[in-house]
Amino acid sequence: MSRVYNFSAGPSMLPLPVLEKAAAEMMDYQGSGQSIMEMSHRSKVYDGVIKGAESLLRQVMGIPGNYKVLFLQGGASSQFAMVPMNLMVKNRKADYVLSGQFSTKAYQEASRYGDVKAVASSKGDTFSHIPEIDKNECRADADYFHICMNNTIYGTLWHTLPDTGSVPLVADVSSCILSQPIDVSKFGVLYAGAQKNVAPAGLTIVIVREDLIGEPLEGTPTMFNYGVMAKNESMYNTPPCWSIYMCKLVLEWIQNDIGGLEKMEAHNVKKAQVLYDFLDSSKLFKGCARKDSRSIMNVTFVTGDEALDAKFVKEAAQAGFVNLKGHRSVGGMRASIYNAMPMEGVEKLAAFMKAFETANA
Ligand SMILES: *Cc1c(COP(=O)(O)O)cnc(C)c1O
Repeated sequence: MSRVYNFSAGPSMLPLPVLEKAAAEMMDYQGSGQSIMEMSHRSKVYDGVIKGAESLLRQVMGIPGNYKVLFLQGGASSQFAMVPMNLMVKNRKADYVLSGQFSTKAYQEASRYGDVKAVASSKGDTFSHIPEIDKNECRADADYFHICMNNTIYGTLWHTLPDTGSVPLVADVSSCILSQPIDVSKFGVLYAGAQKNVAPAGLTIVIVREDLIGEPLEGTPTMFNYGVMAKNESMYNTPPCWSIYMCKLVLEWIQNDIGGLEKMEAHNVKKAQVLYDFLDSSKLFKGCARKDSRSIMNVTFVTGDEALDAKFVKEAAQAGFVNLKGHRSVGGMRASIYNAMPMEGVEKLAAFMKAFETANA
C-alpha cells in the first residue's frame, strides 16, 4: 500500500487509524453480521452509532445543553438557504460579512428571503484578509449576523470573533470545525459540511441554540425545517448513516489519540507554522493571506508566475504531494492541512518547496 500526501481542500484526508478501523469493521459491524452501510437506520445497533456520535461531538466541542445537534444532508450550501428560512423570521433582516466565495454565496442565497445587508467585505483586496467591521453598518434589529469562519479558498481565518451584541452570530465552520476549541455559547448557529475535517461527504452538521428554533418562513420545505429535524433527532428520514459512523470514529480519534481540541489546535498551529515560516523566508514563494488573517487549515501561496505555479503543482504531484493546485477561481497553490495531515506531510512539503526554489532560482 502506498499513500500520497493529499492536500485536497475537500473531500480531504481522513486519519489513517480511522480508515483502518472502518475497514476492519466493514463486513461485520460489532457482531451484527452486517456493514453499517447495509443496516436499518432504525435498528438498535445503528441507534448506538448516531447517539454515540452526537454525545462525543458534544463532549469534544463542549456544546452546551441548550443547543441541538443536527446530522443533515445537503452540504453547507443547503445551510445557505436553511439559515435564513429558519432564522430570518422576526424582522426579515440579516447582516452578512463577505470574506470570500462561500460567504458571498451564503449572502446571495439569503437575499432571496429578506432584507440582507453586506456590512463588510474584503473583495477589493481579493479576500486576502478578514474585513474590518464598522459597527455603524451593523443593524441591531437584524435577525442574525453571518460569517464564514475559515475561508477555504483564500486561506483566511477569523482569529477574533465580531461582537454582535444581542444579534445571534451564525457561522459557516465547514473548513475549521474540530481544528481548534470554539466557544459554542457565543453562537446562535454553527454549521459545517463534514467532508473537510469530520467525515466523508454526505453529512452536514448543524449546531443550533434551542430558542432560535421556531416557525420557519412560510413555504419552507419540511426537510429544511430545523424544528422538524430537531424533534425527530435527525431521523425524520434516512440520515447519512455511513458518514455519521465515520464522524464518530474521527471524534474517537480526536479524543483518544490526540487528546482533545486544545491539543489538536496546538498540533495544527505547529503544522501551519512550518509552511508560513518557509513562505516568509522564501525568495520564490509568497503567501497570499495577510499575516493577521492566516488560516491554520488552508495555506495559499503563489510564485507570481503562472507557468511556474503550474510546473510546481505538476512536479509536486509526481513527488507524492497531490492536490496542491489553488481553487479554480484564484489559481496559485493551496495546501489544505486539515486535522488528518501529519506533521511529516508539511515538513516534507516545505523541503520539497525549498528544493524547487533552488532548482528554479
Ligand atoms: C466546502 C465549503 C462549503 C461548501 O460545502 P458543501 O458541503 O459542498 O455545500 C461551504 N463553506 C465552506 C467554508 C467550505 O469550505
